[in-house]
Amino acid sequence: MSQIPAKKVLPPHTRYDSDFADEKLIRAMLAAPKADNGLVHDIIAKTKENREALEPAEAAALLSVDDPELLEEMFAAAAAVKKAVYDNRVVTFAPLYCSNYCVNNCVYCGFRSGNGQSVRRALTQDEVRRETEVLCGQIGHKRLVSVYGEHPDYGADYIAQTMSTIYSVKVPVRSGIGQIRRVNVNAAPMTVDELKTVKAAGIGTFQVFQETYDRDLYARLHPGGTPKSDFRWRLYALHRAFEAGIDDVAIGALFGLGDWKFEVLGLLLHARDLEKTFGVGPHTVSFPRLENACGSALKNKHQVSDADFKKLVAVLRLCIPYAGMIVTARETPEVIRSVIAMCTQRDASTRIGIGAYSDRYTEQESERQQFLLGDTRPLDAVIAELAEMGHITSFCTSGYRCGRTGDHIMKMLKSGHEGRFCKLNAVLTFREWLNDFASDSTKAAGEKLIARELAEIRAALGTAYTPEIFNQLLQYQERINKGERDLCF
Ligand code: SF4
Repeated sequence: MSQIPAKKVLPPHTRYDSDFADEKLIRAMLAAPKADNGLVHDIIAKTKENREALEPAEAAALLSVDDPELLEEMFAAAAAVKKAVYDNRVVTFAPLYCSNYCVNNCVYCGFRSGNGQSVRRALTQDEVRRETEVLCGQIGHKRLVSVYGEHPDYGADYIAQTMSTIYSVKVPVRSGIGQIRRVNVNAAPMTVDELKTVKAAGIGTFQVFQETYDRDLYARLHPGGTPKSDFRWRLYALHRAFEAGIDDVAIGALFGLGDWKFEVLGLLLHARDLEKTFGVGPHTVSFPRLENACGSALKNKHQVSDADFKKLVAVLRLCIPYAGMIVTARETPEVIRSVIAMCTQRDASTRIGIGAYSDRYTEQESERQQFLLGDTRPLDAVIAELAEMGHITSFCTSGYRCGRTGDHIMKMLKSGHEGRFCKLNAVLTFREWLNDFASDSTKAAGEKLIARELAEIRAALGTAYTPEIFNQLLQYQERINKGERDLCF
């Protein structure tokens, strides 16, 4: 294996010379006196009614709320905003860990180079194929996020190869074909040229999480001499993605490293800067909580309680109303249930070891994993629970393949147009999944939900939908029942 690569040189985009993650501003806002209840009511009403992105000071005011009634009002408003923009849809996906070789030494991570207990592995293309066959042929996923440590032997070319392999897999299932239709990527920051390589392979969303927006803390957690020690290289990773033509990007912070309120404001400033610079904010926001990892050298002094977690999800939802929000299987089922109405995506049937879907080793075998999971339930059980709670699982990826991405999709979300397509496509892709993968009990719960969705669509004839569209939807359903796949609006 190669050694640590020479430190990358920042590209000459000096227009980014003043960092958007302004720590002084964040600290000043957090030190401001607690907002009075009247002001908080007004802020909640503003975002609930107009779905306007909030100013950082308004976000800080929401973060200061601890009155139980006001908190409940915030949670209800956050759920209402999610419903207004994304209706009752929840998108499911699975992570596919491809390589855990990593030259970095992040003190909180099981994959860090200094962790001698970690079993290192990078999937061959055959192994990627086998993993994908399980994910799309047995479980029924249509969307993955492929995950990579940072290592010169497993950089952009390897990432692009694994993506092409994933897209090439097609597995006969009960009455159709199982295949992955969208591959998002979670990987180290790259140069613009490297990003063009992964774009050409069909990347969906590019995720780079800043971990923490607090520079001192960042420096302590990411030792010097590693690529990740360069705060600014990471901070502008997604700006470079836009430069490379990738217009769906995802931000995130690892909650529990430092002051969680600081990170919420850091994420907000990041989202605002992307919107200001490129006219489009992040496609999704992630807020993983730090979990125990094998060989982690970190004592978790800043653990975020479940109550604070719910509050931070609500504040992010209200601050950045059009971004998707991802809650992950790091959390327990109970915690996920408490926030799912504010979120748009979750993973399920998750395994986070290298080769874990096809190797079938113990799912919590810690030497092979980056951290430990809180929700190990299969996708079938998760979908049944979502259906019982009134959420339809959408496997739709049509927007991306029809060019409804980036600026285009954001405009459609803001105007409500994308939501109309999405509701129809959620029904169609849910129908595919029920036919191909559902257990009897999940199918029964799903059928009830589809009947309810069709009734809602029928009730909106003459306003949101035309009779022709509704008839086409019913015809598409029939064709899916006969084995056709990938029909969408
Ligand atoms: S967090 Fe990422 S970069 Fe850091 S050691 Fe783990 S895999 Fe490597």
